[in-house]
Amino acid sequence: MRRMPVSRHVSVEIDLGQIRRNAESLTQRVAVPLLAVVKADAYGLGAGRIVPVIDDLVSGYCVFSFAEAADLRSHYGSAKPLLVLSPDGPEDPSEFIAQNARPAVSDAKRAASLAGARPVLCVDTGMQRFACPAEQIDAVLRAGGCDEAYTHATNLEQVEHFKGLLGGRGLRLHAAGSSLLDRPAAWLDAVRPGMALYRGAVRVSTTLADARRSKGAVGYSGFESSHHGVILAGYSNGLRRGPCLVNGVRRSVREVGMQSAFVDLGPDDRAGAEVVLLGDNLTLEDLAPAWQSTPHEVLLRMCGVGLRFYPGA
Ligand SMILES: *Cc1c(COP(=O)(O)O)cnc(C)c1O
Repeated sequence: MRRMPVSRHVSVEIDLGQIRRNAESLTQRVAVPLLAVVKADAYGLGAGRIVPVIDDLVSGYCVFSFAEAADLRSHYGSAKPLLVLSPDGPEDPSEFIAQNARPAVSDAKRAASLAGARPVLCVDTGMQRFACPAEQIDAVLRAGGCDEAYTHATNLEQVEHFKGLLGGRGLRLHAAGSSLLDRPAAWLDAVRPGMALYRGAVRVSTTLADARRSKGAVGYSGFESSHHGVILAGYSNGLRRGPCLVNGVRRSVREVGMQSAFVDLGPDDRAGAEVVLLGDNLTLEDLAPAWQSTPHEVLLRMCGVGLRFYPGA
């Protein structure tokens, strides 16, 4: 896969112990099986490192593509069942069976051709994205011989709607990702957390390559600042403008160039000082408004800005 180049000056520290603690506290809290979502290389944290750390705590994994399922099976040392969420993928059920993977299906034609792989019905309750509309549920269940169904719910009303459509048929049902884990009514027979596993586990940092008192307008944009510094990561590495911490004080990445960026400083900040781009008390929620994005996207992008490390592992 072609990715943006990482900056060698930025470290992305991933705390595998924190991910395990997150999984442990989820298993204690929700009391139904966890289907850990490890799509997109575990949100950029490295599925190959995450899977062995949580494997005994989860009952299976969700990936997006069939290629991710094959990678997980061949390289990451888990025998747990996989659910492949993508509407695209092999037409031949034996390919899924060989990976102990089950395809999500949302139309009768695909459900029929993949019936041998025990397909899982994906139901639309509002997302309106590759999922089965209510009026086709019976046809898809019949065609695929399905014993499991899920929806991608973002609120409790959608979960209730899903239960109304699929309940009482003896199917295994699941609806909740991270955003509904605090609502027991959404747990049903399993939960599918992604973000809740990775929260608090990533710290992204670099050091000031330069620090100086500003003389007039600075940078391409001519921003005003009393003191500024430079870090060696830029938009070619996926970095954007937003808050950061310098010597533990909240500052900001003021202007982002291709492979470097300007940071606001206080008068006592010096070259070599640590600049934290994510972590300590700077959260994904702090960054998301500045990045005009979601916490999920900030996490993925931040993990790609620098070199990943797994301290203590
Ligand atoms: C990505 C995804 C999830 C996990 O979402 P989080 O908000 O990260 O917990 C759950 N279910 C489906 C279908 C998904 O695509």
